[in-house]
Amino acid sequence: MHLQTLSSGSEGNATLVRAGEQTLLLDAGLGIRKLSGRFQVAGLGLKTIDHVLVTHGHLDHARSAGSVAKRQSAELHCAERIMLHKSVARAPSKNVLRIGRDVELAHPERRGAPVLLRSVLLPHDCDPTVAFRLEHEDRVAVVLTDMGHPRREVADALSGAHVLVLEFNHDVEGLANGPYPPVLQNRIGGDRGHLSNEQAARMLEWLAGPELHTLVLAHLSKKTNTAERAEETARRTLDRLGLGHVEVHVASQDEVGPNLRV
Ligand SMILES: [Zn+2]
Ligand SMILES: [Zn+2]
Repeated sequence: MHLQTLSSGSEGNATLVRAGEQTLLLDAGLGIRKLSGRFQVAGLGLKTIDHVLVTHGHLDHARSAGSVAKRQSAELHCAERIMLHKSVARAPSKNVLRIGRDVELAHPERRGAPVLLRSVLLPHDCDPTVAFRLEHEDRVAVVLTDMGHPRREVADALSGAHVLVLEFNHDVEGLANGPYPPVLQNRIGGDRGHLSNEQAARMLEWLAGPELHTLVLAHLSKKTNTAERAEETARRTLDRLGLGHVEVHVASQDEVGPNLRV
């Protein structure tokens, strides 16, 4: 299995997962033209995406999910509550995401083992919001962003990642001294907002096992965080856990990331 971030941050999120012959897109939060450009950079042809999975209804995740599913003839998977959302309306085939249960994703035209998908509920101000755990041929990738505060049971349900994509949204001081009005500061820093670097470190402590080899810091705020601060927090935590060998990447809003082997 391979994982590649196409875009990460409040302007739009999308991550590509290739598992055997199947290709999955997790979130489609950029406009369709921009997203198609990222597909090209990632070497993706027409009608190569089999499944589009949506974590939640915020536009920076769902924006063009329906259009991508239509263009790519892909199956769309989202929570029942956002089935009628404009962003997913154009999808030709919609499946209800079964939250909390393990589901096998397969495709009639693709050979190889199915992908085992687990969707885990997160505290965030859009109900429901989920993180994804994908397992294929004993390899595990976890993608977790848009979480208001650390929760042990969420980490337990997402265990065993070889590659972990984890939100490091803001720096607490950066948020307090940043350009946002108090209402927005309270939303982002609140229990149903986004993870600060320190909160992400707490989740990392619970999520990281001996099999973890690559950590991708995701959904960084351009206005209230820096890659250096997020990376410093992540490295300090990994060192403390005896996982100093883990590779750390910072997912970019503007550029396609490396195609990481899971
Ligand atoms: Zn988001
Ligand atoms: Zn969100």
